Amino acid sequence: MELVIKNLTKTYKNGVKAINNLNLEIGTGMFGLLGPNGAGKSTLMRTIATLQEADEGTITFGDLDVLTQKNEVRKILGYLPQEFGVYPKVSAEVLLNHLAVLKGLTNTKERKEVVKALLHKTNLYDHRKKNMGGYSGGMKQRFGIAQALLSNPKLIIVDEPTAGLDPAERNRFYNLLSELGENTVVILSTHIVDDVKELCTNMAIVNRGEVLLKGNPVKTIEQLKDKVYKKTILKNELEHYKQHHVVIAEKFLLGKPVIHVLSESDPGDGFIPIQADLEDVYFSQIFGRDQHQNALS
Ligand code: ADP
Ligand code: MG
Repeated sequence: MELVIKNLTKTYKNGVKAINNLNLEIGTGMFGLLGPNGAGKSTLMRTIATLQEADEGTITFGDLDVLTQKNEVRKILGYLPQEFGVYPKVSAEVLLNHLAVLKGLTNTKERKEVVKALLHKTNLYDHRKKNMGGYSGGMKQRFGIAQALLSNPKLIIVDEPTAGLDPAERNRFYNLLSELGENTVVILSTHIVDDVKELCTNMAIVNRGEVLLKGNPVKTIEQLKDKVYKKTILKNELEHYKQHHVVIAEKFLLGKPVIHVLSESDPGDGFIPIQADLEDVYFSQIFGRDQHQNALS
């Protein structure tokens, strides 16, 4: 099964163009939609999840026309929205059972089995009787996955699921997500480069409603081979370097600023060539573009 998005455009009533003539083909496996806040990720995901209309363009999933056959799509869809609220005074077991009824699992015995299996899968079984108000962020997100997996979805959409999780919770969540995929299309949106690095075989970097780059993360890194250099600088030198180089990253190492620059040839001046990583790919797309113009002008 493949999800195909063609020439999708969406402008909100306030004039914000959240999606701008966007094209993507997404096959089975884990696909990362990587972009900063405001890039249009949630808008795109809500549109695919049949919760919002587009102005122009088409989305198909196999034979299904996603924008018109909404009920058909909902039967095969699992969706974890960015703002996923749980009822604090209800236990995971009760809520999951209730959501399963809404999803059409009317056979009690079968439903109990499904709920139990999902609570095990998401490592919530031992906490199933507790009110979710007391759950950690990671536990709530795992519950979010459990509800998204009710009724064996063929298309799974998870919107920024790791935001706000601490590193240990994030790792546990990666383990859970990495078990999805195989025969399903899983779309994960995130502004966290590591999410894509850890989980995704394919990705698209998006900003301002447009796709800037798509492909296999490892291959996109190869395209930056011999093009990224780093240098430790003084704080007050940053502006100078930004004017003369395409600065794609500013980090701190042991309290000192370190910059990464994009360059076709060795910039000299104390710069050291480095092996690019996915973060360099991301920032060269997000920041490098505008700066490239500045540095050249
Ligand atoms: P992301 O999920 O990547 O952060 P969003 O899809 O939430 O991006 O937002 C894309 C742009 O659309 C942003 O500029 C945001 O402020 C705007 N936007 C999102 N939802 C609405 C809305 N309901 N009404 C008006 N503008 C919106
Ligand atoms: Mg969002």
